[in-house]
Amino acid sequence: MILGEALQSVTQTLRRARIADASVEAEVLLGHVLGMSKTGLYTEPERSLTSAESERLRNLVRRRLDREPTAYILGHCEFYGIDFYIDSRALIPRPETELLVEEAVDLGQRISHQGVQTAIADVGTGCGAVAISLALALPQARIYATDISPSALQVAEVNCCRHGVSGRVELLQGNLLEPLPQAVDVIVANLPYVKDCEFVDLSPEIREYEPTLALAGGRDGLDKIREMFDQMGGKWGAHLGERPAYLLLEIGQGQGEIVTSLVNDHFWWASIELISDLGGIERVVKVGLRPQSQF
Ligand code: GLN
Repeated sequence: MILGEALQSVTQTLRRARIADASVEAEVLLGHVLGMSKTGLYTEPERSLTSAESERLRNLVRRRLDREPTAYILGHCEFYGIDFYIDSRALIPRPETELLVEEAVDLGQRISHQGVQTAIADVGTGCGAVAISLALALPQARIYATDISPSALQVAEVNCCRHGVSGRVELLQGNLLEPLPQAVDVIVANLPYVKDCEFVDLSPEIREYEPTLALAGGRDGLDKIREMFDQMGGKWGAHLGERPAYLLLEIGQGQGEIVTSLVNDHFWWASIELISDLGGIERVVKVGLRPQSQF
């Protein structure tokens, strides 16, 4: 089989299986097998595939037809312009989460301008994408990355090594804030927030392959967020220290109002801002946790 034909046939197969963006997915899978860029694929349509390459391609297409997410098949994904290793031990970083990083970088830069070493905690780090993006964007900052899942932290460790930040990102296993050894200036968290009733409607790619632990947030989706607020209000309040503390939280569609009232219940003095993603969905809750903190 030659490349041009392979591209067409994979596209058709994926399209028949009602996989969205079939032609882009076909390019990605074929490019992965042949080690070629997208442009490369189109400049050499007559190149023939060896039988080993055809076999590998068939295997990848079969996995995709079984609804395995492309990022797991490829073993990597891009987030915030950075390439991350990924497998099914951790949630695949979503583009909307880049907003969380942008806001944290902005806060981190402002705090470091005040001449203090910024300490940031990424709570529920998963594959480490948020923590590592922050470490790379804020070279002076100290980053802690916690996760309850030891296997997700193994993925994060691979990514820390890949990006040379193992010395600056401390990976800590434990529930939410519990493993943090010191007070931090900014808490960043993309915790599970999918409601129980919404879980069945997720695509099979998500529902059957991604870690449920990273997605399912209980009846209203906010179990873990509430638990973290409780930790912050308890002995953790003291642990947060004297420094101005900010909280940046990713939320799901339609959760802005209830999370705002949760924040108000727990931290009446806090200032709150809801920030929308490119799709116009309120996606990040930015909370100033100290009376003097300003955005
Ligand atoms: N945004 C993810 C999704 O749509 C959910 C991520 C999360 O629960 N933190 O599947």
